[in-house]
Amino acid sequence: MTYECDMHTFYKGLPDVVVLPSTTEQAQAVVRLCRRERVPIVPRGSGTGLIGGATAPQGGVMVGVNRMNRILEVDLPNRTATVQPGLINLWLTHAVRDRGYFFAPDPSSQMVSSIGGNVSTNAGGPHCLKYGITSNHVLGLELVTGTGELVQLGGKTLDRPGYDLVGAAVGAEGTFGLVTGVVVRLLHTPEAVKTVLATFRTVIEASETVSAIIADGMTPAALEMLDEAIIRAINAGVGAGYPEGAGAVLLIELDGPRAEVEAQGERAAAICRARGALTVSVARDEVERALLWKGRKEAAGAVGRLTASYLLQDAVVPRSKLPDIMRELVAIGERHGLLICNVFHAGDGNLHPLICYDERSPEELERAKHANEELLAACIALGGSVTGEHGAGMDKARNLPLQYADADLNFMFRLRRVFDPDGVMNPGKLLPTHPACGETFRAARPVLPEGAWV
Ligand SMILES: Cc1cc2nc3c(=O)[nH]c(=O)nc-3n(C[C@H](O)[C@H](O)[C@H](O)COP(=O)(O)OP(=O)(O)OC[C@H]3O[C@@H](n4cnc5c(N)ncnc54)[C@H](O)[C@@H]3O)c2cc1C
Repeated sequence: MTYECDMHTFYKGLPDVVVLPSTTEQAQAVVRLCRRERVPIVPRGSGTGLIGGATAPQGGVMVGVNRMNRILEVDLPNRTATVQPGLINLWLTHAVRDRGYFFAPDPSSQMVSSIGGNVSTNAGGPHCLKYGITSNHVLGLELVTGTGELVQLGGKTLDRPGYDLVGAAVGAEGTFGLVTGVVVRLLHTPEAVKTVLATFRTVIEASETVSAIIADGMTPAALEMLDEAIIRAINAGVGAGYPEGAGAVLLIELDGPRAEVEAQGERAAAICRARGALTVSVARDEVERALLWKGRKEAAGAVGRLTASYLLQDAVVPRSKLPDIMRELVAIGERHGLLICNVFHAGDGNLHPLICYDERSPEELERAKHANEELLAACIALGGSVTGEHGAGMDKARNLPLQYADADLNFMFRLRRVFDPDGVMNPGKLLPTHPACGETFRAARPVLPEGAWV
């Protein structure tokens, strides 16, 4: 049952077999066998995805890469590390921190999600505002394609000739093949860090302040927003000590050379005050700072204190449209009689509304689904995207036509076929199977004779 779904529990499907390879050779042998038998393959890292990606609706073989979790090389002169895909994101930073380095992509799930999963979803995170998302930190990939071939894409050398196949493969959600090795950049730990916490009467005021800070010319390492309901949940669940009674909190982190951080911290605080902040404070030490981030990173779990179930959405609007979408979210929540709370990467315009409902009530679930669709349509109408950092999986595949023309989708289908001509890799994920797209994957699950699995 562990392998039945990822963290988007709407989508469930048991694989027929789970395979846990320890080596690239074993992974390759599995892909070759499955291709020969035309059996679907579903790659899986830690299963923290929020899109129904690492689930097996057509059955088949799930390949969990968790045993391939070693750091193969740390090359500090070249500021790179070569790792296996099952390595937990935060373990890499733990391994190099004492030598003054870190791995920048920091999804809030970084304590448990795998680097292979981060690569495959092109994960973002709070600090990706300044440092860029996963694709900005991947230099090379070892990939067992859907044909069972082992290919090396990119590598440690910069400016390689040929197509940017690493760029194409990052974010492919397992549809190109199995990622069995990753070369990543390491960054030098900044000299100083300052975390400013500002409270506002409303999410609208806080949203307007986000644009004002960026317009001032600084790029904070992180610029996160939490609304009143989330603050309550985090304080109760994690004891993070966020000020209560405010409509929204902005968490602004600045890092870099000490003098610059000091100056920017003062400017950010002044902008918050000028925009009507109720309070502005600075984390006094590393313990206080770590507690604020613990609260932020465990927010999704703490929401269990507010609701029986929730649908965690991931969508994007241009940063300047944050106040508009916040108004729209309030209206959608009221229209459907549902609590929608917000904790998100405000600096990127990357929203994470949590639509709260009780799954024991089918009628309430239906309302949550309607609210969800309206929310995505509102983001598109404001010039945004139906998905930000989580990817498409099963959840958003059908929404892609809102954003892409048929020609664009067809082109992506054809690219997918280059890596996986038989459609065995993670079928039904990432791209829609709508007839308007001109192409559909045939059902990849074969009819096998009795006993063929063993
Ligand atoms: C509390 C919480 C907070 C989160 N915060 C963030 C956040 O801040 N930013 C963010 O981007 N995401 C976030 N996520 C979503 C999730 O953690 C990320 O999408 C993460 O990158 C998934 O990694 P995973 O190892 O769990 O992958 P899985 O869920 O196992 O898989 C994700 C997808 O990648 C494919 N895949 C996995 N491994 C491989 C491989 N080796 N080869 C080929 N394909 C593979 C799977 O088939 C699937 O389609 C959060 C999730 C939770 C539960």
